[in-house]
Amino acid sequence: MSTTNSEIGYVSPKTQVRWIPVIGLEVHCQLKTWTKLFCGCRNEFGATPNSRTCPVCTAQPGALPVLNREALELALRTALALGASVAPTSKFDRKNYFYCDLPKGYQISQFDQPYCTGGGITLESGKRVRLTRIHLEEDAGKAIHDRGDTTLVDLNRAGVPLIESVSEADMQTSQEAFEYLTALKEILQYVGASDCDMEKGSLRCDVNISVRPEGEPWRTKVELKNLNSFRNVQASIEFEIRRQVEAYESGDPAQFPVQETRLFDAEKGVTRSMRRKEDAHDYRYFPEPDLPPITVSAERLDRLRSALPELPTARRARYQKDFGLSAYDAGVLTADRALSEFFETVARLSKLPKEASNWISNELLRNLNDPLLPIRSIDELPFRPHDMSLLLGMLDKGEISGQAGRKVLRAMFETGKSPKDLVASLGLEQVNDSAALDDWCREALVGKDKIIADVRAGKTKAVGALVGPVMKASKGSANPQVVQEILLRLIAEMPS
Ligand SMILES: [Zn+2]
Repeated sequence: MSTTNSEIGYVSPKTQVRWIPVIGLEVHCQLKTWTKLFCGCRNEFGATPNSRTCPVCTAQPGALPVLNREALELALRTALALGASVAPTSKFDRKNYFYCDLPKGYQISQFDQPYCTGGGITLESGKRVRLTRIHLEEDAGKAIHDRGDTTLVDLNRAGVPLIESVSEADMQTSQEAFEYLTALKEILQYVGASDCDMEKGSLRCDVNISVRPEGEPWRTKVELKNLNSFRNVQASIEFEIRRQVEAYESGDPAQFPVQETRLFDAEKGVTRSMRRKEDAHDYRYFPEPDLPPITVSAERLDRLRSALPELPTARRARYQKDFGLSAYDAGVLTADRALSEFFETVARLSKLPKEASNWISNELLRNLNDPLLPIRSIDELPFRPHDMSLLLGMLDKGEISGQAGRKVLRAMFETGKSPKDLVASLGLEQVNDSAALDDWCREALVGKDKIIADVRAGKTKAVGALVGPVMKASKGSANPQVVQEILLRLIAEMPS
């Protein structure tokens, strides 16, 4: 990592001094297991408050935790996909603090012996952001403070498995932080570890950030919390860089950044002090006596490694090589594993990979993002890849026009019916050669003497103005290429 690169850093508008941001990220990710980390309660978002609880996750006397094997496997898969090393032996520790959403008075976490160290993510620029460690821990419950002077507690989340990935402070711009998060999220989704839904809190991110003048040692870091979207991560970093530089440049030590936690106010785009940072020893970590150490054999790791799916980077390269897609299209299609698998099935069934790429990354995603439709993800589609490949086949054979194809796809989203049925019921068969086409073209020529004269004078492009009306008369079922040919033929046949 170069720190003398003249492109990197923030140049103060006041002093022209180049300040280098130092950014590290801590990402909490809920694992997509059937049950919680240490008990048999369902790990489920949105259930009736406190309905997914038992003596273990509500800390009744005498209740003992048992490690969920599925959670450990997902955590291990993530470590392997990130090229990290897994410790043959690691242990759990108690992180002690008091809060109403933490019934035990401590969180079971990993302190000095995490299950995973090292690894990292390579950004598009080729820069490597190293991971310090990943550890496994349980989530706390949820305290709801927005009911006047009452606080409600929901323990459904208490004991949900989490992995916390801590990066080295290798990032220097908000864009790098965004890229790192995007790549990490993709990997977590590809290995099936998490759905990474930030709205449901299954992916949460904290930022550690400081600034220093180029060539000088690191200064005090500040922690940013409450970042519930990647956009807010970027915006809070950008605000914080400016705030810290201005504070140092004020020359008043009382204004200098202090070690603290700050919250991001997304509406105002500013960060505010929440609390001075506790030191790690305030948590009085000590080994969890009720759980044995985690041991992971080399054989188990080999088995998990060989079962890993193809990861996004490898998949993007294959799409470019095998399907001739651009880097951009390959990126769009692989950003989501379900989308990527949908595309591959459609490409294989239709044998039209380029068309599949175009239609899926443009038309299909447009409908998925349309707020007027209730479907938000590939998993909710009311039709199968097979239907999409039939649609592409009809387009390829010229049986329907592109415009009709878009209507059919929309109707597939709305009704889930097969494209063949929809083409018939909507009357969208492309009319390539029929008396009807000739009639519509003759009508379009009536009174268009100027255009006819232009075409006769050699300006054949002038006929383009008449294609639209014919398409409209055919309700989009005509083939525009054929319409143009008929118009030119009719003009040529006219007596001069
Ligand atoms: Zn429970």
